[in-house]
Amino acid sequence: MIVMKFGGTSVQDAKAIDRVAQIVQGRLADRPVVVVSAMAKVTDSLLAMGRAAGNGDRKGALKMARALRERHYETAGELLGTALFTEFHGELGTDFEDLDELLRGIGAVGEITPRTYDSVAAFGEMLSSKIVAAAFASRGLPGEHVDSRQCLITDSSYTRAVPQFDETNERLQKRVKPLVEAGKVPVMGGFIGSTRAGVTTTIGRGGSDFSAAIFGAGLDAARIEIWTDVDGMMTTDPRLCPDARRIKVISFDEAAELSYFGAKVLHPATVLPAIQKNIPVYVLNSHNPTCEGTKITAQSPPCTNIFKAIALKKKITLIDVATPRRLLVHGYLKSIFEAFDRHQVAIDVVSTSEVAVSVTAETNEAIPALAADLAKIADVKYEGRKAIVCLVGEKLRDTPGNAAKVFSILKDVKIRMISQGASEINLTFVIEEDDATEVVRRLHQAFFAEVDPEVFA
Ligand code: ADP
Ligand code: ASP
Ligand code: MG
Repeated sequence: MIVMKFGGTSVQDAKAIDRVAQIVQGRLADRPVVVVSAMAKVTDSLLAMGRAAGNGDRKGALKMARALRERHYETAGELLGTALFTEFHGELGTDFEDLDELLRGIGAVGEITPRTYDSVAAFGEMLSSKIVAAAFASRGLPGEHVDSRQCLITDSSYTRAVPQFDETNERLQKRVKPLVEAGKVPVMGGFIGSTRAGVTTTIGRGGSDFSAAIFGAGLDAARIEIWTDVDGMMTTDPRLCPDARRIKVISFDEAAELSYFGAKVLHPATVLPAIQKNIPVYVLNSHNPTCEGTKITAQSPPCTNIFKAIALKKKITLIDVATPRRLLVHGYLKSIFEAFDRHQVAIDVVSTSEVAVSVTAETNEAIPALAADLAKIADVKYEGRKAIVCLVGEKLRDTPGNAAKVFSILKDVKIRMISQGASEINLTFVIEEDDATEVVRRLHQAFFAEVDPEVFA
């Protein structure tokens, strides 16, 4: 059994879904379970509708919902042909009626809660998974739609719900495994789940990768394939550096660091379930299916390059917490971190001195209130428009002089924070967002002009 996950661009229109069907057809002997994202940009537009309805713009929200309905009908019509589409039309129609109803309700209340946000966002994956399952069936593939909300059980931290593995695994064994054993291809939406009480949840943006890994681990898959729109994990985001190279093999640890610090190609939590069961993860390109992609595995092979890749995370706020008193007395850091916890602001990078603590977090609307809270115990300054650059490689552990090499290339760049050591495989620093692209390009040129052919393509 294998899990194959297809991201938003891989199911963005009829042509893309047709390609998915062909790729899955080629893997039937491996008994695939298919996980799909919402069609490209659909989650963004659903959230925009929810927001509009919450702000009282009910008409605007319903107009966006109509455009979404048309896009899905058009795709389904193209994939299924008239006769089959007529059969399927009613099923999609019911979902769109439900969405309209929900938006009207939000509009009437004039407020959107995280719980209703999730109910709105979940339509993307609900719809795409139904369309893909129907497209499979119309192409002679034994596709069978499974509502992921009945399998992925989470807590009720809406918009970032935490999977409850025992219950989820039990459900997967009961609902999905028998289908695979009967020769079916289950088709499931990523990203969505539900609480034990049956309330719809989502597990965080980009979370379909994580869903695929959860399903793979719960079903003891032989491998997990993440199909996307690039040839694999690359030495940096190819949108930043068109000459980025494909990484042929990378370790779970390296991949996790890269995705945590901005390599969007993989959701940061994806590798956790895979590590626990030692299931290899592959990143593959649905637009170039014969390419070998990237294999993510427990052990990475020896590599002559110091670094495997450079990740970049923008939209970062730097928060400096300082006090004239001697700070690092017992319990002081605790009180600072507790404030972050109370405001649910996740910390990326930390550095401390005798009188100050600097912390970075993704820029978000909770930061002003957090800063006001921290101001009760210290002087607080915060500044947005920063970026985190992270260089990752297991060789970093035992090669001297790496930091010197990196920063000698960036002599003219203002570095706001530096961190190395926590995981021993990353060198991370914070710069101005405006410098970010240039910095990544320079580093990429310096460290990847020549690459180890065993590890990079
Ligand atoms: P999907 O919709 O398939 O989940 P995403 O858009 O979430 O795809 O992720 C794929 C994108 O990740 C690529 O198009 C690429 O621009 C970006 N990306 C960022 N860093 C990397 C990297 N190191 N290697 C490959 N892709 C990367
Ligand atoms: N559709 C969701 C998102 O856009 C989940 C995913 O694509 O992984 O965040
Ligand atoms: Mg993604």
